[in-house]
Amino acid sequence: MKKLSIKWKVTLWYTGILAVILGFMFAAMISMLNETELSVTEEEIHGAVTGFLENITFADDTYYLDGDTDFYYEGVSFCIYDETGTRIHGNLPADFPENTVLWANRTRNIKADGKGWMVYDYLCEYSSGKTLWIRGTTSISNIENFMRVTIIISVIAFPVLILLIGMVGYFMIKKTLKPVDEICNAADIISGGRDLSKRLPEKKLEAEVRHLTNSFNEMFERLQQSFENEKQFTSDVSHELRTPLAIMISRCEDLLSGDKLSEEHKKDIEIILHQSRKMSKLVSQLLFMTREEKTIDTNTFEDIDLGMLLQMVSEEMQIEADKKSIVINTNIEENLMVHGEQTLLMRMAMNLIDNAIAYGRKGGNVFVEAYTEKDRVIGKVSDDGIGIAEEHLQKIWNRFYRADKSRSSEGTGLGLSMVRWIIDIHGGTIGVESKIGEGTQFYFRLPKGGRRNEADEIMIEHIRLLKR
Ligand code: ADP
Repeated sequence: MKKLSIKWKVTLWYTGILAVILGFMFAAMISMLNETELSVTEEEIHGAVTGFLENITFADDTYYLDGDTDFYYEGVSFCIYDETGTRIHGNLPADFPENTVLWANRTRNIKADGKGWMVYDYLCEYSSGKTLWIRGTTSISNIENFMRVTIIISVIAFPVLILLIGMVGYFMIKKTLKPVDEICNAADIISGGRDLSKRLPEKKLEAEVRHLTNSFNEMFERLQQSFENEKQFTSDVSHELRTPLAIMISRCEDLLSGDKLSEEHKKDIEIILHQSRKMSKLVSQLLFMTREEKTIDTNTFEDIDLGMLLQMVSEEMQIEADKKSIVINTNIEENLMVHGEQTLLMRMAMNLIDNAIAYGRKGGNVFVEAYTEKDRVIGKVSDDGIGIAEEHLQKIWNRFYRADKSRSSEGTGLGLSMVRWIIDIHGGTIGVESKIGEGTQFYFRLPKGGRRNEADEIMIEHIRLLKR
């Protein structure tokens, strides 16, 4: 299961705790409100019954009821019962259960037919042993209705409030953690090797995050410095090796073209020549990579007809393909504009086609296709050669990785890493499909660029003429 992010964890914890606290507060508030309403009514009923007593006069072993006695006062109905529990004066409110037992000096809440009542029975002793009951009754349905509405409102308001608290909390946490997110994104970009010069913004940050940002920026600085030193070193070494290698190759070629050497020595010199050429290829690739990576500026990219470029490279590579009797077939749409750097795109095409020839079948075919699909230009280079085993497919993009070192002794293991880097800086993607013994297809996608310029049109005409 996917792990929750810190943002979600903190939001859930704090919303959960607040929900429990608020739940308790809501419940306590409702219960207190209910208690208060009932105790106010209780006091009112007590007061009303005490007031009602003033209508009764006790004298000569009996009692007298005022002639103008009112049996209803401010919502409270009064009844008088004799000592046997028989109602002798007053009426009970309609719907109030007649058979409710008398309970001396107790206030009770009674429920009957869905209606709520509060009843207070006052036992009044007069003369020796004679008693009289005064019952006060009032409806508490309005309190119950009020409490019902309050509970309904609370039940609706509670989740809305919790949702609101959760949302506000989430956005606050998100805002607080934004600099941390930025640090992570920058670290991702840098660790992916895409842009070592990127730094984290330092303005308007809280002290803790600023400290973290500074530390990261210092680390990135050191990282960039050490990468650049390494590149510089590779570039310098490659540059220094070029001349001695060129001399070695030309001397070997001279020796081989003459007839001073025995067959045995010729073979040795051929081996030296082969290895020197391989080394020379490696050195020029390293030099190309270090120089291009150092100087590349995407702002200088221009609109390039990729179709035309692929066509041109395919034609040039046919000479190499002829050595293995391979035919390079092209199926390239017209006007395939991309935004990029010509030298790099050319190098990308050359490396892919060169591999297709190197690992292709003798007398086989190489196919170069290109077309547009929505806002992308799709390119494909396929061969019917040896193929790549499943376990190598992910690794072939790594520098110096070679799937089968014995197959092509010319290989350096740098070609595809260069291809991927070129596609990457052009904002594209690249993939590979392969079956051992059947062949390999490399496919790449690049964002569509602008329109053809005049120079492109001249080149196209030139290619057309060459083809005839
Ligand atoms: P190399 O200089 O060895 O060709 P690359 O980086 O161009 O280096 O390729 C890496 C490895 O991927 C090669 O050594 C080879 O094993 C494999 N490979 C690349 N292209 C093909 C292809 N078209 N068919 C079969 N294997 C390939």
